[in-house]
Amino acid sequence: MAMDRRDTFKLAGVAAAAAALPTMTLAEEKAAASKTTGKSVVIIGAGFGGLTMAKALRKLDKDTHVTVIEKRSMHMACPLSNGLLGGLDDMSLSMFVGDYGEPAMKHGYNFVNSEVTGIDRKAKEVHTTTAGAVGYDILVLSPGIAYDYEKQFPTWSKEKIAHVAAACPAALMPGNEHVALKKQLENMDDGNVIIVPPASGKFRCPPAPYERTAMIANYLKKEGIKGKVIVLDTRPGKFAKAKAFKESWSETFADFIEYRGESTVTDVDPVAKTITYEDADDKSHTEKYEVCSFMPINKCSPVIAMAGIEHNGAGYAMMDGYSFKSKTDSSVYVIGDAVTHKIPPSGQTAIWGAHRAAKQIVAQLNGKVEDPKGGLPAKAANVCFSMVNGAPEEAIMVTHTFSADESGVLKGAGNVPKPKDGNGKFRSTGTAKATREWFAGVMREMFA
Ligand SMILES: Cc1cc2nc3c(=O)[nH]c(=O)nc-3n(C[C@H](O)[C@H](O)[C@H](O)COP(=O)(O)OP(=O)(O)OC[C@H]3O[C@@H](n4cnc5c(N)ncnc54)[C@H](O)[C@@H]3O)c2cc1C
Repeated sequence: MAMDRRDTFKLAGVAAAAAALPTMTLAEEKAAASKTTGKSVVIIGAGFGGLTMAKALRKLDKDTHVTVIEKRSMHMACPLSNGLLGGLDDMSLSMFVGDYGEPAMKHGYNFVNSEVTGIDRKAKEVHTTTAGAVGYDILVLSPGIAYDYEKQFPTWSKEKIAHVAAACPAALMPGNEHVALKKQLENMDDGNVIIVPPASGKFRCPPAPYERTAMIANYLKKEGIKGKVIVLDTRPGKFAKAKAFKESWSETFADFIEYRGESTVTDVDPVAKTITYEDADDKSHTEKYEVCSFMPINKCSPVIAMAGIEHNGAGYAMMDGYSFKSKTDSSVYVIGDAVTHKIPPSGQTAIWGAHRAAKQIVAQLNGKVEDPKGGLPAKAANVCFSMVNGAPEEAIMVTHTFSADESGVLKGAGNVPKPKDGNGKFRSTGTAKATREWFAGVMREMFA
């Protein structure tokens, strides 16, 4: 559907009116819309990056007119969701969901619940399924990831992919996958749970599959379910926080966890509930499961390609030096998991990047330049916690310092510390307490 720029601005005015004053007259709508000319920022994706960005922009410059476009009607946070699967005390679904309307009203930005289907950079318009075209001066992309079953299993039909995705939830994206996995665990009989981490490439929250392993082992133990968590990993035992995970797996769930490195999954049969894989010697094995969380190779959300900006083979956006500007277009910024900076794809990184990018955008809108190297190196810019035990509740952590690498990229260096209250171990109850506090903090960052 074609719309001209006048209609586009009218839509922005309508959205503003809906958020601020539902009874505006048409004349007032137009006046409100005209105020935004030159300072309209449209954000695609209301996840960790997008919601942080919207609030930060409105706080930094009240003249900025901000519109967030999101395809989902409700937020479901991924961090700590493995704790929900693990049956940790006092954890319920309500902790993880957020209402988009509340922060939009409070901070004075527009929330549009619609899916983006196209981006016209020449006209500076974003096209949506239900809200028409939305104009921008600056566009921010924070659309997160997508799954790449097609690359991993080129012979699988669309139907097979859909069947495996539904039957063996990856639960790496906000939405109903975590709920589906939890229901499967609640309904399972004695038997094994199989976890398959993404086989290769960059993937969302690298410790997540291994935290899930510990938490599902906790669930089996707590519920008295006779079975094991079997991890079929392509890696030879080297993964995020590996030393810390292995220490706690062997000391808390030795009878419940079996890690099989150098395993390449070749097929999943969701009807027979079997998974087939090849070991390091190319020997094929078929294993029966009760529940399976199969995490496919990740790629970037197609929104980056939709914008026609330069990206790598997996769809992640090429960046302009250390900044959060895309390499291709100085009016298009990219944050969150969708960037090619060499920093870990995490919610904390998305928040950190959103704050930096917001400063860069406000400077640009006001004819100034924010130094993209300012404040670097940034110590503990990313802190990522993983729950590893339920009784007592214990967690491990990794911190990353982000710096301006000489090669011209923004780069992270990680450290897995042993906490003071850990008695020489990587895990501690204090770290678990900090995990819960961190999570409450990031939910406040996005929704308060
Ligand atoms: C199990 C698990 C545990 C995790 N634990 C941690 C942790 O402990 N600490 C941590 O820091 N991080 C953690 N993460 C990672 C964190 O959730 C992500 O890195 C973070 O969500 C990335 O933010 P984002 O804004 O890039 O993407 P998202 O938060 O996924 O947001 C992207 C949004 O864009 C929307 N969108 C996509 N396409 C369109 C479209 N066409 N139109 C409209 N809207 C669209 C999506 O619906 C989505 O809401 C974890 C992740 C998982 C899966």
